Amino acid sequence: MTVNMFDISGRIALVTGSSRGIGNAIARGLATAGATVVLNGLDPVRLESAHAKLVEEFGPERIFAKGFDVTDAEATADGVAWVEREIGPLRILVNNAGVQHRVPMLDLDVADWERVLRTNLTSAFLVGREAARHMIPRGEGKIINIASVQTDLARPTIAPYTASKGGIRNLTRAMTAEWAASGLQINAIAPGYIHTEMTQNLVDDEAFNSWILGRTPAHRWGTVEDIIGPALWLASDAANFVNGQVVFIDGGMTTVV
Ligand code: NDP
Repeated sequence: MTVNMFDISGRIALVTGSSRGIGNAIARGLATAGATVVLNGLDPVRLESAHAKLVEEFGPERIFAKGFDVTDAEATADGVAWVEREIGPLRILVNNAGVQHRVPMLDLDVADWERVLRTNLTSAFLVGREAARHMIPRGEGKIINIASVQTDLARPTIAPYTASKGGIRNLTRAMTAEWAASGLQINAIAPGYIHTEMTQNLVDDEAFNSWILGRTPAHRWGTVEDIIGPALWLASDAANFVNGQVVFIDGGMTTVV
């Protein structure tokens, strides 16, 4: 008998921040593997356009969109409740929504510090908690938190981002400590430098671009497609005993000096 451990047909997945970038690629990848996917984002126009594109590929019965602000506890609870009520039991959650803010720490406003922490870290707690409240009684569920190479390594001018992504590592462990016994697997993916809108200004910066190429053993930027395989693995039965891990998808950046 051959069993496709990566087949996630019929499972319902919510990917936060999936109107573009890495989240959108993960959403498309999960849909390709058979999942029913709920897209999420803030900007309604961008979300609707992403929704329409994936509906063209996979049909309206497998692609949905629910816009809500992942930093808002009430909106998040309503969003997850909507998925459960209108689509069905949530099996896979990818906490991907995130923002960057580049400024030297001495000039950093507390409002920006808090905005980045709320968007990148508190959101994973809020959406994760709501998802787990539904998953735990059913005894199964996959939560994938999107971390970063900044989970391990710092760089000047991105203190709140670095703190938030470090927090994602231990939030992933905390979720594992509390929820793994209920049949949930919670892991994180830590992408290296991936060419998206978030990093377009870095790609365009000749000095930064050549630093990236030199600093990355694979000698290239990552693509959003590079994240799909690891996300599918962690979302599938192939990772049923993988708990609390941070998987770095970075062309080797965090393994060399
Ligand atoms: P993008 O800026 O391309 O996309 C960010 C997504 O998050 C958008 O869909 C955006 O929605 C959504 N979003 C932002 N804030 C909220 C919010 N409050 N509520 C709901 N949705 C929100 O980012 P990337 O694809 O580059 O990054 C995605 C994730 O991957 C982030 O967590 C990032 O930290 C992480 N990452 C990225 C790397 C990279 O090199 N690009 C490297 C390592 C990690 P909208 O379009 O409506 O604004």
